[in-house]
Amino acid sequence: MSKKTLVNCPICHKQAEYSANNPWRPFCSERCKLIDLGEWANEEKAIPGQSIAEDEDKPDSWNF
Ligand SMILES: [Zn+2]
Repeated sequence: MSKKTLVNCPICHKQAEYSANNPWRPFCSERCKLIDLGEWANEEKAIPGQSIAEDEDKPDSWNF
């Protein structure tokens, strides 16, 4: 093992070791991995919440 594979952490862009020594790869730490998971969870929550538009509940024809 003479060479380490380093990647840039997708969250904080610090260099992280991409190997069995780093269980959080490709992140630099557990914290960054959790942040990434959190962002995905927030997006999944936001999409259905925003797709329920009030306008779609009241089509114009209801004003008839
Ligand atoms: Zn990081």
